Amino acid sequence: MAKKQFKAESKRLLEMMINSIYTQREIFLRELISNASDAIDKIYYKALTDDNLAFNADNYFIKLKADRAGRTLTLSDTGIGMTKEDLENNLGVIAKSGSLAFKKENEAKEGHNIIGQFGVGFYSAFMVADVVTVISRALGSEEAFKWESKGADGYTIVPADKETVGTEIILKIKENTEDDNYDEYLEEYRLKAIIKKYSDFIRYPIKMDVSGRRPKEGSDDEFEEYQEEQTINSMVPIWRKNKNELTTEDYENFYAEKRYGFDKPLKHIHISADGAVVYKAILFIPESTPFDYYTKEYEKGLELYSNGVLIMNKCGDLLPDYFGFVKGMVDSEDLSLNISREMLQHDRQLTLIAKNIKNKIKSQLQGMLKDERDKYEQFYKSFGRQLKFGVYNDYGTHKDDLQDLLMFTSSKEKKLVTLDEYVSAMPEDQKYIYYASGESIDRIEKLPQTEMVLDKGYEILYFTDDVDEFAIKMLMAYKEKEFKSVSSGDLGIEPDAADKQTEEEENDSKDLFEAMKAILSDKVKNVKASKRLKSHPVCLSTEGELTIEMEKILKAMPN
Ligand code: ADP
Ligand code: MG
Repeated sequence: MAKKQFKAESKRLLEMMINSIYTQREIFLRELISNASDAIDKIYYKALTDDNLAFNADNYFIKLKADRAGRTLTLSDTGIGMTKEDLENNLGVIAKSGSLAFKKENEAKEGHNIIGQFGVGFYSAFMVADVVTVISRALGSEEAFKWESKGADGYTIVPADKETVGTEIILKIKENTEDDNYDEYLEEYRLKAIIKKYSDFIRYPIKMDVSGRRPKEGSDDEFEEYQEEQTINSMVPIWRKNKNELTTEDYENFYAEKRYGFDKPLKHIHISADGAVVYKAILFIPESTPFDYYTKEYEKGLELYSNGVLIMNKCGDLLPDYFGFVKGMVDSEDLSLNISREMLQHDRQLTLIAKNIKNKIKSQLQGMLKDERDKYEQFYKSFGRQLKFGVYNDYGTHKDDLQDLLMFTSSKEKKLVTLDEYVSAMPEDQKYIYYASGESIDRIEKLPQTEMVLDKGYEILYFTDDVDEFAIKMLMAYKEKEFKSVSSGDLGIEPDAADKQTEEEENDSKDLFEAMKAILSDKVKNVKASKRLKSHPVCLSTEGELTIEMEKILKAMPN
């Protein structure tokens, strides 16, 4: 029987495919399972519109079988199957997707969840197999056919026997080489792990015969060998479930299962968006700062699924840096993926989702601040610094998003207050929002510069984080009140009439000040009498933009 040749372009494509499109070999299983799931979806879909066809969920599943001795891995499905023509057209022509055609034909109608679109996924099987055999019987057909190929040099199609409708794909797994291990694709535990990783939320059961040893029932020291069929995937993803059916514990379990963190999440956000963008997401605000959070090693991002199939572990584009602590996942049906699925096209949908998510996180945090103050302060202790960095790195509108989420320790009761709380509590004659910087609250309280402000009955914000002052310099003002360091030259506080510096006093000390200035010539610019001191004899103040604390930090920075 004559071997049919792949089209010339196809031949090149196949080689390229095997060597370069996919970054990881293990995804061949994701691709074959996606195809099987599509095939079952097509039957399901036909049943929706065809009264003669009943869809009984129990009859539809995907089964994986590994034969270590024979070096074969077999994946069968009870899907719609392929006719001889289908085998020719869909497997004989690379980059032709029968599933995309199906989707287009049935675009107007609801009810399917088809994953395929590029017409290349199938060939990823050649990354791990020397020979790929496909035996298929199409729905409504009495005949079955066998398609077989060793890769680039073509394929054969011959009649075959198959009792039931569906498709069976047999991979002859490659022999190990010095550099590459293929045996792992015959190991149960490895296959299970790959299914869990990429295909856990495929809507149909993925079954596998699993063998092992376990303690005998009712006995501690006796073991038994067992072999049983197990369903590996969990099928219904938690994010497709109704919020009302889920408990906080369900979300916490998901957080732990996914290893988003070792802590318990402070808050979860379950989104089911149905507007301009359609997506589902579960997001978490962690309780504690990951150990590497403020280092270069930390990588922000959310898991990205397309229709229940994992596309990317950490999609950074979904989160602004200042919400980089958020963990979780997004599932959307209408993303434009590139051929390897590992990358996204520059996608308008994705941008919309990211914007949407940012706003949800922001309003959750605002809600928490309003209604669950303790929780919010806990959050702020872990990630407040990140928010302040967000304000500092502002190139556009972050400030507006973030300024209401900021908190600083106030001189009054030494509690955290928001800028809004500070401004609302300001006496009428107070012009500025005052702050004082230092290493610790203790140190700040000893600053002579705070006295005059406190004496006036004004509150001072204590800045102990090195980013604090840089952040508010970006804000400049809050609700039209400018920020003012207590060590700046002009505090905007009117001295009482009796306290006004008389010219005489100024002249009295003139010689002394000149002498002091001469001695400190390289350290200070000027020496002046001051009315802001009460119990301290002297203090340092600055003129211009930078405060003493900021200068210290800038000097300490590597150039
Ligand atoms: P895609 O899934 O992107 O369409 P693939 O290369 O993975 O591309 O598959 C090509 C086509 O082969 C599919 O569109 C589908 O028509 C057909 N096909 C592949 N696997 C199966 C299967 N298990 N059952 C039925 N049809 C299949
Ligand atoms: Mg596919």
